Amino acid sequence: MKNGTNLSSLGEFGLIDRIAAHVAGGKGVVMGIGDDAAVTALTDGMQLLTSTDMLLEDVHFRRSWHTPHLLGRKSLAVSISDIAAMGAIPRWALLSLGLPAGFPLDFLDEYIDGFLAMAAEHGVALIGGDTCSSRSGLVISVTIMAEQFPSLIARRRGAQPNDEIWVTGTLGDAALALELLESNQAIDEPSLMARLLDPTPRTVAGRALAESGLITSMIDISDGLLADYGHIAEQSRMGGILYLDSLPTSAAFQKYATPRPVFPHHLVLSGGEDYELAFTAPAENHEKINAITKKCGINAAPVGIVTSSPEVTVLLPDGSRHIPQKPGFTHLI
Ligand code: ADP
Ligand code: MG
Repeated sequence: MKNGTNLSSLGEFGLIDRIAAHVAGGKGVVMGIGDDAAVTALTDGMQLLTSTDMLLEDVHFRRSWHTPHLLGRKSLAVSISDIAAMGAIPRWALLSLGLPAGFPLDFLDEYIDGFLAMAAEHGVALIGGDTCSSRSGLVISVTIMAEQFPSLIARRRGAQPNDEIWVTGTLGDAALALELLESNQAIDEPSLMARLLDPTPRTVAGRALAESGLITSMIDISDGLLADYGHIAEQSRMGGILYLDSLPTSAAFQKYATPRPVFPHHLVLSGGEDYELAFTAPAENHEKINAITKKCGINAAPVGIVTSSPEVTVLLPDGSRHIPQKPGFTHLI
């Protein structure tokens, strides 16, 4: 997707044509880009799930850190992750762009390539959007639409006392990568950088867990486990105990974290942007859950227990309880 033209000579409609030329159809797409509205058909008996996210330059991303291709991938991945957390099947996306004056066309071409590559990996069709000029940085807004049978949709509400709290994958990698980038430290661990710059939404596991009927609630971890499990607890009118010793971290994380004077537990508990799943399930479902996640090619680990008392606390290795003060992840600024 390259030629010598610039964005202003291309114009809004030229740009839309350029995007549309690379877009493939998809399941349920009756009419995609090109008319006043897209037309889609839901699978019989399924309901529509919709979620939207904004990504603002220098708030959610920096152009100097992301290649355009990875930014394209990530801007769709974060929305697909919300769908994974509902156990639904991602289908359609809308992409709206606010472009600063003189925005490089090469960047845009590579961005769209990345966006469409992520879309293809998850069976998503780009069916429309909006394009305008921005007076302050690149503005990206992505709307994702998905479908699922109503009885199979996973929610934040539903956790029961004594359910196990689980997380997929490892925690803290993205936040550690961000910390290293912000302090200009060299990072010779591509896997760590990829967790921040090119996250993988857990669609297969999310859907399998929801469809299994074994779980009682689910959320994706975008703001850190404490904050996101906090949402499950609040909406389920429960609390929880998270076992600090059980929180899974990657080998790369441990390599960077262990020599420090204090192990950065705060990144594991409150670091954002891991895009793993947190879910709850009765303890009797433990083995079946292990089998499902294994089949989906990922690890899942029990990291705590749901309590009927409302506070969320962290159990430290010495047996004491820590009541966290700052659960959430704040974005770059
Ligand atoms: P309108 O003036 O009715 O809003 P537009 O000229 O903005 O229509 O859009 C024309 C078509 O191009 C529509 O189908 C719209 O969804 C699509 N479109 C516009 N911008 C984008 C974009 N950034 N990505 C994908 N499709 C887009
Ligand atoms: Mg428009």
